[in-house]
Amino acid sequence: MRAFRSTVFAEMTQLATATGAINLGQGFPDTDGPEEVLETAARAVRDGVNQYPPALGHTVLREAVCAHQEAWYGLRYDPATEVLVTTGATEAVAASLLALCDPGDEVVALDPTYDSYAAAVAMAHAVLRPVTLRAPDFALDVAALRAAVTGRTRVLLVNSPHNPTGRVLTEEELRALAEVAVEHDLWVVCDEVYEHLTFDGRPHLPLAGFPGMRERTVQVSSAGKTFSVTGWKIGWVCAPAPLVRAVNTVKQFTTFSGGAPFQPAVAVGLGLPPARLQAIRDRLQAGRDLLVQGLHAAGLQTLGAEGTYFVNVDIASIGESDGIAFCRSLPERAGVVAVPSQVFHADPDSARTLVRFAFCKRPEVLAEAAERLARL
Ligand SMILES: *Cc1c(COP(=O)(O)O)cnc(C)c1O
Repeated sequence: MRAFRSTVFAEMTQLATATGAINLGQGFPDTDGPEEVLETAARAVRDGVNQYPPALGHTVLREAVCAHQEAWYGLRYDPATEVLVTTGATEAVAASLLALCDPGDEVVALDPTYDSYAAAVAMAHAVLRPVTLRAPDFALDVAALRAAVTGRTRVLLVNSPHNPTGRVLTEEELRALAEVAVEHDLWVVCDEVYEHLTFDGRPHLPLAGFPGMRERTVQVSSAGKTFSVTGWKIGWVCAPAPLVRAVNTVKQFTTFSGGAPFQPAVAVGLGLPPARLQAIRDRLQAGRDLLVQGLHAAGLQTLGAEGTYFVNVDIASIGESDGIAFCRSLPERAGVVAVPSQVFHADPDSARTLVRFAFCKRPEVLAEAAERLARL
């Protein structure tokens, strides 16, 4: 694990603290989620929901996850055997890879990757085979996907809406992923933590809904991003019973269970009327627009931002050549912290001039950041 000793977030957060800059590096909201969700958690603590929950998670949450899957996507899962509550999506992905991979197996993943993926693949003694989504449009290169699959490929690891690019894969791209998975009989782990955070009318289409996919897909999601409770670490997987059993076999020895009082609260969140979730997305989209305006005023070309908490810029458009140097100097130059996207790439050269900004912040914070950036 030596290669994973330090992360860019530690350095950039330290820089934000030291300089008093606005931290748009790490993607965590600066407001709390829906009132009923917070209230339910507080009440659960008071009401004594404080001991180990069942290994699979509290029934009320497993039932809420299934009702949500059916209401939003028409996907049916059995709450008794096909849902597992995890310690965030991070544990869900790690436990899935540990469960499904033997040493030497290959994991084909959309690159750049969320920062825990490469470490989780390493912990499973598996090998990461990246398929790069390239700027400016971050489109899926189906030929590259096909070329990445070998006889050793065991898992296709997908994330859409995609962090860090902010892409929402199209139906056509998802169909291509599904076809390759079926053709090569792969397990699929699909991280959909931003399922409710897609913009400009884009729908979220779960990969498990495509032909031949439900039986091979471990669908991963989490409450953190949707309900602005990233510190709660309540995630879940939905999959056929044998896959859930496999993932739980690992999970029972990593954390066993956790987050007892937060589980009923997340159940309330998942059951909120669609208009409430739409309002969450609209507020985030307005934040995106505010920040993008500032970035454009600074002469920066923006990319992605179709969903998630993030927008990327190409700093080549202002004559800069390296994202790391740019991000180290940005607090001094503009009082804002961002992260260099190259750290998420298997091949940093494919993203030297890309920089990622988070817009999951209060409007006044984003307006101030936009104003500061416009002075660049
Ligand atoms: C934030 C994030 C996670 C982590 O989710 P937790 O529930 O906090 O563990 C996983 N995947 C992606 C793509 C994320 O952006």
